[in-house]
Amino acid sequence: MKCNIALVKGDGIGPEIVDSAVEVLNAIGKKYGHEFSFTSYLAGGCSIDAYGVPLTQETIDGCKNSDSVLLGAVGGPKWDTLPGNIRPEKALLGLRAELGLFTNLRPAKIYDALKEACTLRPDIVDKGFDLVIVRELTGGIYFGERGRRDGKYGPEAYDTEAYSVMEIERIARVAFETAQKRRKNVVSIDKANVLETSRLWRETVHRIAAEYPDVEVSDMLVDNAAMQLVRDPSRFDVVLTSNMFGDILSDEASQITGSIGLLASSSLGSGKCGLYEPIHGSAPDIAGKGIANPIATILSASMMLRYSFNLSKEADSIDNAVNETLAAGIRTADIARGETPVSTSEMTKEIISRI
Ligand code: NAD
Repeated sequence: MKCNIALVKGDGIGPEIVDSAVEVLNAIGKKYGHEFSFTSYLAGGCSIDAYGVPLTQETIDGCKNSDSVLLGAVGGPKWDTLPGNIRPEKALLGLRAELGLFTNLRPAKIYDALKEACTLRPDIVDKGFDLVIVRELTGGIYFGERGRRDGKYGPEAYDTEAYSVMEIERIARVAFETAQKRRKNVVSIDKANVLETSRLWRETVHRIAAEYPDVEVSDMLVDNAAMQLVRDPSRFDVVLTSNMFGDILSDEASQITGSIGLLASSSLGSGKCGLYEPIHGSAPDIAGKGIANPIATILSASMMLRYSFNLSKEADSIDNAVNETLAAGIRTADIARGETPVSTSEMTKEIISRI
């Protein structure tokens, strides 16, 4: 298979960790006979420095014309005082909108070798967990009508949650199809006891569920879901949520794994082109030192193989190599507990040696 991948390395540790993922993809290409070609584009702070804006048309077109996009991270203190419309983070929102990415997939799992980093009680951690949050990314209250006005008690502000049947149907289908590749269970999150959008959400999810008889579906109120995630995360396989509920629950889910440098995410639209990135930021405090943990970005590359290119065997090969490397006690500084930490490039070499 031939794939053109756009690289948006970004700022801080972005270039270091994306370079590691490229090395891993090249190793996969060599082993399984695929040709991955890479083109780099600027976005975020480095684009502001070069062109005065966080996202250029050249980067948008380059990403749109690629088969998928691998992103490091953007931002840093250098650009923190710029006005909101030219902040590095604008590049992310702009890319998501331009690529029509309405789905955010965020897996959260506990690695046996890193159980001690988990903040939950040992009896809960021992059961393990491996879940993925499927979050709607371009609708709901973050995009609804908003404003300020004079209300009953004086000046007030409002934000509006609105969801169309079409938006719910398409994200529900992503959740069911994701579940079909996993343990075939979807928990749909809503607040149907209060919100009309949630009642439409629930109705629509159940109608779409009928098309996927092999997948079990249940509903859970968002307040209960926030509790269950820390009480017994092992009960979840695929968690389907609206934009705002997913924003909150996905951060909770990543926090309980205890290791930010290990978590990948992908944003997908209706086509095969997706945006794959680690969930952490540009870590300016360690940028340029060669000590960043590249695993989240390497696992983002694995998600790209699985979800955009349908290369599950190759993705499994990366995931297994990461597992084995961690099981062998090899750690970057952020996850070391007494072990001598390895550098970004040593960690990358260790993973490649197990592919
Ligand atoms: P951060 O995730 O960059 O860093 C938080 C802490 O985790 C730091 O101590 C950092 O050294 C550590 N860390 C993060 N990733 C690591 C890795 N791979 N290996 C080892 N240690 C790692 O969050 P922050 O400090 O709040 O933000 C820094 C900058 O990143 C800000 O400008 C922020 O806006 C931006 N940011 C960007 C994205 C993105 O591009 N998607 C996401 C979050 C934050």
